[in-house]
Amino acid sequence: MTMHPRIKIGVSSCLLGEKTRYDGGHKWERWLTATWEPYLELVPVCPEAECGLGIPREPMRLEGDPQAPRLLTVETRQERTERLLRWSARRLPELEYEDLWGFIFKSGSPSCGPARVKIYDARGVPGKRGAGLFAAGFMARFPLLPVVDEIHLADPLMRGNFIAQLFTCRRWQEFLGKPWTIHDLIGFHTRQKLLLLAHSPGHYRLLGKLTARAQELPARELAAQYQALLLAAMKLQATNKKQANVLHHILGYFKKVLSAAEKQELLELIDACRRGDLPLLAPLALINHYVRQYGSSYLQEQYYLQPHPLEVLLRYHA
Ligand code: SF4
Repeated sequence: MTMHPRIKIGVSSCLLGEKTRYDGGHKWERWLTATWEPYLELVPVCPEAECGLGIPREPMRLEGDPQAPRLLTVETRQERTERLLRWSARRLPELEYEDLWGFIFKSGSPSCGPARVKIYDARGVPGKRGAGLFAAGFMARFPLLPVVDEIHLADPLMRGNFIAQLFTCRRWQEFLGKPWTIHDLIGFHTRQKLLLLAHSPGHYRLLGKLTARAQELPARELAAQYQALLLAAMKLQATNKKQANVLHHILGYFKKVLSAAEKQELLELIDACRRGDLPLLAPLALINHYVRQYGSSYLQEQYYLQPHPLEVLLRYHA
């Protein structure tokens, strides 16, 4: 891969500064355009404007059955559900051709919010929460793709998670895009191991069991099961505590070659990382130095230690 492969991510238009909101305003996330736009292609999508509801327009909200909420204007009670769903049914197949890697949605929107959007009951009281209509359709059509809203993206841990999902999803898509054997899948899985451990030790174990009986399953079934577990694992947050556990695990590879002072230095970095006082980059830089110095083919090929340069840049350039 080149240093900067072409990565496209869908983004709710108003987050990019486009004046598409119901009141004719925007919700520009300036850091997004300032820090990520040079490296990523951000594809603006505004369901409400694009489906012809106009700017400005009456605000709307979700109402009714949380399993199948309706989209209604707040004051005049006009039904907008069919219009938005019809437009989504046309737009989503178009987005498939855009080759998006993920989507950054506007939180709280009855069209764009990926989760926790208020759904009002018959008395006009917000009850259960769910996804906006377009976001729900997007997630159903592209279950592989990571999605996030701007609130979670502003949190360094959650941003790191989104980026890790993005690149894992891309690697898996690239893997599936070529003919593969069980040996190839095991190779893919092996390089993924420490990353999986950082996100979900439980899924790490389940994926280990699945690859151990890979010969027993038809290839399509194996890939489907592997994918489901891989993506479920990556959706879980790689917390500071889980990262520290992985770093301790890595330290075990060097316990015979490092001096007491070197071990102590690394342990202190790991502890600072666990407390959230230092970014993961700090212990990883030292560990990579030891990997180069003492060698370990297993560690050398781990995505956890050798992420794509762009992955590192996006994660820490905020
Ligand atoms: S939240 Fe979605 S529908 Fe609303 S203005 Fe932004 S992009 Fe358009």
